[in-house]
Amino acid sequence: MSERQHQGIVIRPPSEAGSFLLQVTYGCSHNRCAFCITYNYTKFGVRKFEKVKGDIELASRYNPSIRRVFLCDGDALCLSTDELERILDCLDEHFPALERVGIYANARDILTKSPEELATLRSKKLGIGYIGLESGNDEILEGMRKGATAREMVQAVRKAQDAFIDMSVIVLLGLGSNAMSHQHALDSATAVNQMNPRYLSALTLMLLPGTSLYQKYRKGEFEIMNPTSILEELRLFLENLEVEGECTFRTNHASNYLPIGGTLPGDKERMLEVIDRGLADSSLLRPESFRAL
Ligand code: SF4
Repeated sequence: MSERQHQGIVIRPPSEAGSFLLQVTYGCSHNRCAFCITYNYTKFGVRKFEKVKGDIELASRYNPSIRRVFLCDGDALCLSTDELERILDCLDEHFPALERVGIYANARDILTKSPEELATLRSKKLGIGYIGLESGNDEILEGMRKGATAREMVQAVRKAQDAFIDMSVIVLLGLGSNAMSHQHALDSATAVNQMNPRYLSALTLMLLPGTSLYQKYRKGEFEIMNPTSILEELRLFLENLEVEGECTFRTNHASNYLPIGGTLPGDKERMLEVIDRGLADSSLLRPESFRAL
């Protein structure tokens, strides 16, 4: 395999579709979430700076006008601040039009960095972090082995935002199954309200073979929610969102039954109406055949 070939599975947020995807780590340093299989077969590691630099040099020869970069893989903010600074400096040097660098982050990655370190990274164009809150309910988070409480994730998001790094927060519909759907929606809305993120998205749980959650499902210990229940959960979540400022909210991921989008708080009523139309007419929903593979 070429040294300049991305190793393992590449994932990136939908909004980073046009970005230069630069691998700086292999896999995810946590790699324990019960619903996630992305990096099951990738041993976590830090990519050597020389290889990262080689990719940057190669990309700059082909397209020196790159404006956005996304640092892969699963939680690249786990790198030391020194290493991240070195990468950000190298990017800035090679791409004169560089505007923003994005990264996946978990709560621990953010909380272990000082406010000064985060400010330094921001000054070097680290402009957005993507964090999987998944749920604001601690019982669900613990069951899913997320590795952080809702309170820690709220603290992390606020800390990054205090350093002027925009945060994009992801909630996973269906994660509490039918039994905890109500609490999942309400607690997730409470956590998001405390975060006040600039961006928010809701995805829908897809059960994938190879995950521990899939095994629970096969044993009858976890239920997949039907489309109506998922939409009701989404409605309850959205109804209880009271974010301050402007928050772009989307459910446009391929996993979702009903794509909606708008800016909170202004578009909340319109988006609730779209959900109500979906609840009244199931022909408006995307198919559910891929919910458990
Ligand atoms: S932190 Fe993200 S990438 Fe890592 S195991 Fe959990 S969901 Fe997967």
